[in-house]
Amino acid sequence: MSEVKTDNKEYIKGLSGKIDIKSLTLPELSECIKAIGEPAFRAKQLYEWLHIKQVADYDDMTNISKALKEKCRKNFDLVSLKCVQVQESHIDDTKKFLFGLADGNVIESVFMKYKFGVSVCISSQVGCRMGCKFCASTLDGVERSLLPSEMLDQIYSIGRITGEKISRVVVMGSGEPLDNYDNLVRFIRLLSDENGMNMGQRNITVSTCGIVPNIYKLAEEDFSINLALSLHSSNNEKRKQLMPIANQYEIHEVLEACKAYFDKTGRQLTFEYSLVSGVNDTDEDAAELSELLSGLNAVVNLIPVNPIKERDFKPTDRSGALAFKNKLEKSRINVTIRREMGRDIDGACGQLRRRHLEENQ
Ligand code: SAH
Repeated sequence: MSEVKTDNKEYIKGLSGKIDIKSLTLPELSECIKAIGEPAFRAKQLYEWLHIKQVADYDDMTNISKALKEKCRKNFDLVSLKCVQVQESHIDDTKKFLFGLADGNVIESVFMKYKFGVSVCISSQVGCRMGCKFCASTLDGVERSLLPSEMLDQIYSIGRITGEKISRVVVMGSGEPLDNYDNLVRFIRLLSDENGMNMGQRNITVSTCGIVPNIYKLAEEDFSINLALSLHSSNNEKRKQLMPIANQYEIHEVLEACKAYFDKTGRQLTFEYSLVSGVNDTDEDAAELSELLSGLNAVVNLIPVNPIKERDFKPTDRSGALAFKNKLEKSRINVTIRREMGRDIDGACGQLRRRHLEENQ
């Protein structure tokens, strides 16, 4: 039994039902440490081991007594992901990690090295329930949402394994982050905590398929993180065919929410647009998109859709993507074509996990 007396306060629990130590803020950890009869300064030491030195186990915490380590093991769950597989790209420095969770589920995360630093793309859920037609993560629905600690530890583990300093985090892996709202917000607070990893919020991007009420909620959090919206079509009917969430929120509602996010935070918006040949890459699509985004402080991120074997979507070819880009630029829209990093290593969301599950059935 856990000795932590919580005074009716609910601390976040891990999978075993014990308090999830890596998901606690420093003040919460201090309360819990006091509750097991230890001085509060021990909380600061533990927090440093967890979030700055980012060790995988209590055994690596050299200035913590054996007795306290035992108490911690008894009272807390310590999330530490198990690296199951690493796929390295032969084209660029991209690496894809498959991590095992304590309940046997697997998730994937991506390491990308750019000239200006290292980015890590993390998953926010095991699977996804949003049902976007071109996406491998959602084919079997959602298994469960990830804990803040499980989101953090994707970053910590990759830092430990690669020895690289991670300068940017994008929540663009499997799952819909705004469908796991409370854990996402806690994760962002922990990641950017000056007593912890202290990542600048401007270096954190959250990508959503457009859950409108939660975009408004996120705007009220007092964060300076970047918001990316998966748009994929500027036409309601076409968007519905690609993204079931579009049946719930019309494009103009999603755009209103994004504008509100910008007004509140001043952070530039990114619109993700996966180009599918013959579906959303026509001249008409470019014209409609230009009109929709005109006057917004926004960047459009084009990426030729990454084909998955379960669906028959074909990517727009290089010249088609460039032509689409030119049309948008003529309307003074900022556009980038995303480098398709790691295409040779099941680069698209959820593909590596799927293959692993298929092979291990
Ligand atoms: N659920 C969130 C974040 C995860 S998906 C969202 O929808 O934004 C991250 C991005 O990759 C989204 O823009 C998604 O639409 C896109 N994506 C997923 N599968 C893809 C594929 N096969 N090819 C190209 N883009 C894909």
